Amino acid sequence: MKTVAEYFGENVFNENVMKARLPKETFKAAKNTIDNGKRLDPAAAAVVANAMKEWAIEKGATHYTHWFQPMTGITAEKHDSFISPSAGGSVIMEFSGKELIQGEPDASSFPSGGLRATFEARGYTAWDPTSYAFIKDGVLCIPTAFCSYGGEALDKKTPLLRSMEAVNRQAMRILKLFGNENVTSVKTTVGPEQEYFLVDKADFDKRKDLIYTGRTLFGAMPPKGQELEDHYFGVIKPRVQAFMKDLNEELWKLGILAKTEHNEVAPAQHELAPIFATTNIAADHNQLTMEIMQKIAKKHGLVCLLHEKPFDGVNGSGKHNNWSISTNTGVNLLEPGDTPYENAQFLLFLCAVIKAVDDYQDLLRISVASAGNDHRLGANEAPPAVISVFLGNELTEILEAIENDTPYGTKEKELMKVGVHILPKFPKDATDRNRTSPFAFTGNKFEFRMLGSSASVSGSNTVLNTAVAEELKQFADALEGASDFNGALHDLIHKVIKEHKRIIFNGNGYDDAWIAEAEKRGLSNLKTTPDALAHWLDEKNVALFTSHKVFSEAEMHSRNEILFEAYEKLIKIEARTMVDMAYHDLLPGISKYVRYLDKDLTSDFEKNISSQLSQLMNKAYAALLELEAKLEKAVNEADTIKCAFICKDEVIPAMAELRKYIDDAEKLTAKEYWAVPTYGELLFDVR
Ligand code: ADP
Ligand code: MG
Repeated sequence: MKTVAEYFGENVFNENVMKARLPKETFKAAKNTIDNGKRLDPAAAAVVANAMKEWAIEKGATHYTHWFQPMTGITAEKHDSFISPSAGGSVIMEFSGKELIQGEPDASSFPSGGLRATFEARGYTAWDPTSYAFIKDGVLCIPTAFCSYGGEALDKKTPLLRSMEAVNRQAMRILKLFGNENVTSVKTTVGPEQEYFLVDKADFDKRKDLIYTGRTLFGAMPPKGQELEDHYFGVIKPRVQAFMKDLNEELWKLGILAKTEHNEVAPAQHELAPIFATTNIAADHNQLTMEIMQKIAKKHGLVCLLHEKPFDGVNGSGKHNNWSISTNTGVNLLEPGDTPYENAQFLLFLCAVIKAVDDYQDLLRISVASAGNDHRLGANEAPPAVISVFLGNELTEILEAIENDTPYGTKEKELMKVGVHILPKFPKDATDRNRTSPFAFTGNKFEFRMLGSSASVSGSNTVLNTAVAEELKQFADALEGASDFNGALHDLIHKVIKEHKRIIFNGNGYDDAWIAEAEKRGLSNLKTTPDALAHWLDEKNVALFTSHKVFSEAEMHSRNEILFEAYEKLIKIEARTMVDMAYHDLLPGISKYVRYLDKDLTSDFEKNISSQLSQLMNKAYAALLELEAKLEKAVNEADTIKCAFICKDEVIPAMAELRKYIDDAEKLTAKEYWAVPTYGELLFDVR
């Protein structure tokens, strides 16, 4: 048996493999590409491609694919075999430098939001050499970005890579001002904590709502839910344990640093957290993690639900996006330091994040907007739709002292001057465990907690990186010409705190009083996906992305179209699924039970239940007709954005109305007449 250390990364064409298999010069060139984004020349690429192919074939691979992340939210791959005909009817295995660097998948069926109407129909994929190639199911997968022929991004990775470049550019200007001579690049890092549910596959297969939409659209609460909180960090059940063991092994072979696993608050809910990585790699790894979770679950007769809200009345699933910025010399720029200069630098980066979150609250909200996540944000389990920053009391007091020019702490008599005084040490754990903040500082990183479990982390990190790049740019512009650097720095930090402190909130984010307070502070509260998306094309947002070359205006319009369309399409599918289940599964079952009871109405129980169920059936049927009417209205609306609002304002309430009567009927209907597995079965069958 191999040990973890022996098989970790065995399916990855990583630096060690490259070092062992590439000629010295080629390895140096490849490493320069990975570390510093330098282009790999075609001759070197051909050598890398050949080494990759040899390695992959030794590991049993027969095919290769450019692996990319189109706007569907999942990954895409098209397998090509290495075979090439040779003399005498035999084949040789080939893979060229050109095939490594660029691919041309038929892109016409991926969402483009109108980009392809104006440009070439086909797209191309371009190798992202900073993310290692890997083997999955006998296929060599090459992480790539996906663009149209005009160079417009059709995927989630391209803007993410561009946003990382933007942060790098601006952060380097700041670091220069602080005299960091050795630093040659700055990268953002991400550690996404992934929540998910596991249900029994036999139960799953009986529910069309789970099959078509990933969540239950009907379902009465079982006698026991999560009220005892006995699941959180509880002992992991044997079947789940076996799943986690397999999952870890598979992830480790792919070089994914799966680190912690535990039961979450809801029954059947679990979490997996990796060790953080450079943002684009973390994004690739998170996509792979989600894919492999689903694959391994099937092997264990389970289904892994990544939906944000599989069960009404039970906690939903999120994805905490831990985020920081580091230099290539290994310095975490959000880690307070030991000298006045390090501290001033830390405070400046901290202020950049605070200002970025305040200036672009709407964009951060948009980056987590989806039909699924709308069920979570603002419920008592996830942060509200209002964005605020948690800093913890100590750091907040320091910022207040700077803002008000008042002494900080008991010992110091002097005023705190940025760049002159050393910050007091605050223990990491003091910045604590506020679990209700959407955006919390946790000692040396920020944790953005609004992401939904099924989301790609690319969108949120693209926004975060670009917004922070913009603030760093403004700071660098202000400081580069200053004659008195320390004075200018102090004034700048002072000003940022004064102007943006409204975004700082250390209290309970789930409290209604906070929502009222947030409104007074003028913070935005975009409650639903359509409400949020309506701000995507606001002038300041277009200016942000275009000025940092993260999105062109055409790309922003395309995304707007894609996001609205994804929303309305999904709601329509949910509504149709409800209609289908009501007609074919649930109402017929209730009706049959009523007829059974009506055969012999001798007892009060029979009379009473029959009458109650009949009334509920009448109400449910009326609600069903109403839902069908609303659905038709949405279907007949040709304008995507108008349709999305009809879905939100009319279809979703009609769905809730129908559900109410059916769920009430479920509570009164005998088990054998209920056509689908219940919440109790779904949540507690896996043992
Ligand atoms: P906790 O959330 O309990 O404080 P940790 O501090 O260990 O736990 O980290 C939680 C997640 O944050 C992990 O996925 C971890 O890898 C990630 N993380 C830690 N440091 C950083 C960093 N500098 N950048 C990005 N993510 C980080
Ligand atoms: Mg955490």
